[in-house]
Amino acid sequence: MSEVTLNKVIKKYGEVQVIHGIDLEIKDGEFCVFVGPSGCGKSTLLRMVAGLEETTEGQINIGARDVTREDPSQRGVAMVFQTYALYPHMTVRDNMGFGLKMNGHPKAEIKEKVAEATRILKLEEYLDRKPAALSGGQRQRVSIGRAIVRGPEVFLFDEPLSNLDAELRVEMRVEIARLHKEIGATMIYVTHDQVEAMTLADKIVVLRLGKIEQVGSPMELYRDPDNKFVAGFIGSPAMNFLEGTLGEGGSVNVPALQEDISTGVGGNAGTKVSFGIRPEHLTIDPNGTSFKVDMTESLGGVSYAYLQAHTGERLVVEERGDERSRAGDVVGVSFAHTRAYVFDALSEMRLR
Ligand code: ADP
Ligand code: MG
Repeated sequence: MSEVTLNKVIKKYGEVQVIHGIDLEIKDGEFCVFVGPSGCGKSTLLRMVAGLEETTEGQINIGARDVTREDPSQRGVAMVFQTYALYPHMTVRDNMGFGLKMNGHPKAEIKEKVAEATRILKLEEYLDRKPAALSGGQRQRVSIGRAIVRGPEVFLFDEPLSNLDAELRVEMRVEIARLHKEIGATMIYVTHDQVEAMTLADKIVVLRLGKIEQVGSPMELYRDPDNKFVAGFIGSPAMNFLEGTLGEGGSVNVPALQEDISTGVGGNAGTKVSFGIRPEHLTIDPNGTSFKVDMTESLGGVSYAYLQAHTGERLVVEERGDERSRAGDVVGVSFAHTRAYVFDALSEMRLR
């Protein structure tokens, strides 16, 4: 079994603490994604699991083993980086087999393992090429192949698709999902891209400033965010936030919407709140509150209308029908009150 458990894990660089006590359980065979803005500590945490960064305090277990002080080579992990770091003078075949060769594995075994990785990654045609004769996506497949041949218990990926263009990124995302399905190994995947996190993960860990903001399945985080940061980070375009004030009995006064909205949330009357509603949960409706359309973006199947309230606050609305708003229009907007989220304006915690 190769579950990964982090227990009160801390990282300090000298006096500067960058990871602030992380507790986390990743199940055997789970695809876990660390997501968060640049600099939040994703790579540091992943490299601590790999053994490439020393763990200052706390404990890391892989399966039943405490690996906290083990060398990277003893941990049963293989890492795939954003930069492919292939040997330019070696063929694809030799790049994939090199690690095993250096560790003294028999030729026949290396051949078999390289053949298996080649099949999984569909690299048959490229085995005799050198990296310079490969596309970015093919190079990244080779570096994934290099991880596969080692037969690790845990795969670690650090932004492996960030150097690829948009189309290849989508293609490789699907390949990595397929790889996980086929191999079934535990995988930890770092990205700043919430779309990658949503599409790949069994479990998402949202990080911010070296702390966990929330852990859950993609849909749990989308439907039930614990705080404004997670609500704004998960989902695209991001959730809209409007200023409001809590009234009696869970009603919220939202000036931009020109109405009191009954939400059923708890909290003291007078509390300043952020009222959250996703673009896909707003509807253009002649009977709704009036907004001015500043600008629209059409992607074909869907458009986004950028609206301005009489308060000056802005709102994005998703539109899909045949009739779509145009810049300069004044439109009505309505929404199902059950789709709204309320956050304390100061603590940014969700009010329920
Ligand atoms: P992410 O991968 O989420 O973008 P990192 O894990 O690379 O973030 O970095 C987390 C924080 O640790 C950042 O504030 C970064 O500046 C700091 N950091 C990373 N490496 C070092 C180092 N070697 N010395 C000092 N600070 C570091
Ligand atoms: Mg990073």
